[in-house]
Amino acid sequence: MTETISTSREAILLEDKYGAHNYHPLPVVLTKGEGVFLWDVEGKRYYDFLSAYSAVNQGHCHPRIINALIEQAKELTLTSRAFYNDKLGLAEKYVCETFGYQKALFMNSGAEANETAIKLARKWGYTKKGIPDNEAVIVAVKKNFHGRTTTIISASTDPSARKGFGPFMPGFEIVDYDNVAALEKALDNPNVCGLWIEPIQGEAGVYVPAEGYLRTAAQLCKKHNVLLMMDEIQTGIARTGKMLASDHEGVRPDLLILGKALSGGVLPISVVLADDEIMLVIKPGEHGSTFGGNPLAAAVCMEALQVVKDEKLAENSQRLGVIFRERMQALMKKTSLITLVRGKGLLNAIVINDSPESETAYNLCVEFSKNGLLAKPTHGNIIRLAPPLVINEEQLHECCDVIEKCILEFKKTS
Ligand code: PLP
Repeated sequence: MTETISTSREAILLEDKYGAHNYHPLPVVLTKGEGVFLWDVEGKRYYDFLSAYSAVNQGHCHPRIINALIEQAKELTLTSRAFYNDKLGLAEKYVCETFGYQKALFMNSGAEANETAIKLARKWGYTKKGIPDNEAVIVAVKKNFHGRTTTIISASTDPSARKGFGPFMPGFEIVDYDNVAALEKALDNPNVCGLWIEPIQGEAGVYVPAEGYLRTAAQLCKKHNVLLMMDEIQTGIARTGKMLASDHEGVRPDLLILGKALSGGVLPISVVLADDEIMLVIKPGEHGSTFGGNPLAAAVCMEALQVVKDEKLAENSQRLGVIFRERMQALMKKTSLITLVRGKGLLNAIVINDSPESETAYNLCVEFSKNGLLAKPTHGNIIRLAPPLVINEEQLHECCDVIEKCILEFKKTS
């Protein structure tokens, strides 16, 4: 391949012409990343405040993770699971010991890990709980985001995720998030095999449930013999100030679903963790993936998680998250453009004083980018702010200054 791109305009026109229009990116064309920074093709430097939807918690192109990638790539990249390889078992042991489970099942994308959890919950429901064939129900919640497959969107309540993509998979019941009474009622159905939730709803706009909700949900699952399926793909791996967001309430899910930062953004890796009683309901030949558990991913995953531990990223996220929200709360007193700031650790959102259908959040993100900071709206009036967890306090203050300047000036000109 000899063609190269030298201007942003060229790249945008090319993607527009040859690529599917399934995203609406900010008009920024990136070519390099290092730590908390990204550079565009014209050489402008930005702070990354999205972290590829929390996949790059360890910072862009972390030298240790890249080194693990290169070293393993020189030896062996893919065998398929038709044979054993000398890295997968090590990675399985590593994640089991890190998160406290007996078994791990590696996949690639987050959606695949959620699909795996759905199959595990259903099979467990039939073989262990005694649910009649084909009658298993999974309880999910409003405004969830678990991925884009046709089964997953069957449980979505977002019209843009569903419209035009039916017919949908049966077997889901949807209740209000953060509503214990609704949950209790739904779990009363003896055909329920799983409760499928995010500990904080990331894509919905960083909705943090009331203190105690997750703990009560876990207790209700125990009481009704239902598996707690926790999607920590966005919230896990130090993003919210603890290794798992579930740790804030001392909750141990029956099925723990992880993705994104398992690789530090280097390649797609996801995993489902569970104990033997649940994981071993799936037998050889019943589930799999050609790339799932490949030795390249296994080597990268171990190094990516070790970086999180060695660099104390959960502690950094916890400490800087408090400072960030204090800065945003102080900003709220100077403007009516922001109505709310919420989040945990370095997973935060600001809510803009406009309708969810408005373009205000997008336009503000364009202003942020002109001032050297990249963030993306989750809805017309919500901006998620989630830098790599390797950011330091001085850098965080510099970013808060940029956000503050843009918001105060935006108010003046709009
Ligand atoms: N689950 C959650 C909570 C997510 O935030 C995402 C992606 O944003 C997914 C699942 C889907 O992951 P992937 O895009 O890797 O399929």
